[in-house]
Amino acid sequence: MIRTAIIAGGLGTRIRSLSGDRIPKALVPVLGVPIVAYQLRLLARYGIRDIAVMGGHKGDVLREGMQPLAEDLGLNLEFFVEQELLGTAGGLSQARQFLETTSGGDFLVIYGDVAVEMDLSRLISFRREKKSMAAVVAHPNDHPLDSDLLQINADGQILNFLPKKQRAPGYHRNLVPASVYCLSTEIFAWLKSGVPQDFIKDLFPELLKNNQKIYAYLTAEYLKDMGSLQRYGKVEHDIRCGRMASMNQENLRPAVFLDRDGVLNREIPGNGIRSVDAFHLLPGAAEAIRRINQAGLLAVVVTNQPNIAKGTLSEQELDAIHAKLDTELGSEGAYLDRLYYCPHHPEKGFAGERADLKLVCTCRKPLPGMIHRGEKELSVDLAKSCIIGDSVRDIAAGRAAGLHTYGVKTGFGCKDASLNMQPDLMFDNVLDAVLFFVEKIPAVQQP
Ligand SMILES: [Zn+2]
Repeated sequence: MIRTAIIAGGLGTRIRSLSGDRIPKALVPVLGVPIVAYQLRLLARYGIRDIAVMGGHKGDVLREGMQPLAEDLGLNLEFFVEQELLGTAGGLSQARQFLETTSGGDFLVIYGDVAVEMDLSRLISFRREKKSMAAVVAHPNDHPLDSDLLQINADGQILNFLPKKQRAPGYHRNLVPASVYCLSTEIFAWLKSGVPQDFIKDLFPELLKNNQKIYAYLTAEYLKDMGSLQRYGKVEHDIRCGRMASMNQENLRPAVFLDRDGVLNREIPGNGIRSVDAFHLLPGAAEAIRRINQAGLLAVVVTNQPNIAKGTLSEQELDAIHAKLDTELGSEGAYLDRLYYCPHHPEKGFAGERADLKLVCTCRKPLPGMIHRGEKELSVDLAKSCIIGDSVRDIAAGRAAGLHTYGVKTGFGCKDASLNMQPDLMFDNVLDAVLFFVEKIPAVQQP
């Protein structure tokens, strides 16, 4: 079985008022149990028994606090206590022998102070399929502007790490590395014994520089650091009401699928949005997304972008537009769990078009391909989900997938009569539609 390292050496600086600087961050109690106990239970549930605990700050207190929890769960903990602080990655060499005795050629790393509930087997399979040096769990969060961010390509390969204090101001995709990794044991060749190294600031950028492949494992599951009192309170609430447990991807979740143009941002009839400057969020759009986030539902954009096939917009330009969307939502505490676009277009014969994308696909709305992709990749419960659109294409796609279908009067206002189809209900705008869905439909009420 795969082995795991829990990094528990961190000094509790920001959360010191709770730990009183007397106990390591991993032992900060949440509902009367140390936060690390939730991690140990998660590991035990996935059959993981052998765990290296990388301690530093108050190492013996850590051992005394964790050993009884491990015994209850039948886990074997090996403690590796740093004499000096070597950063998140720097201390790992001490546990090399223990972690190399893993199965499958890889091991997991979890930081001891994050609340995490996720399908670990899916993460492990992902790294093995990609044969990458590392799979870094990544997700959007509600405070991207003060978080480290990632830049990835269409395949999910990480191109760049953008630490919060070192990146240029501007628009960025909301993709935050979370404190869980699956690492190949080959990584030990890159670790320097006794030298301070941080995963995000030092080790991963060094690997990229040397053409080693690192992938982002995108997930909408539960990963929250407890870096502030406010976030600590949120974690406690989410555990108490069952939201944290419900967000493991082994469970189905309701989603709100949203069209982009004319629903979230101003529609530009004819040629569509082809530049960052032409993209403007509609009033209420950010609040609508934030309400979806707060209700514990998935927010998933599904948008046709035929300009890509027509050769009038590149994928890089589209990504820059989506960076503006993510950044403006993020500045209002809102985030999209996933954004899918169809780059195809069926009609051939235009100058400058991309022949490889000029085809009849299954993702272009009114077909439901993007919705079914979301269903599979995010474990969506379609019967408890809805689509919000300004075009009958959106409504037709939603109906084909068995969703509740809501039209909005912004954009085309569902008056593009190419298909004879009416939404279940019409609303003035996306915020009204979202408020109706999260407040009035009991079937979607989450804990
Ligand atoms: Zn398509």
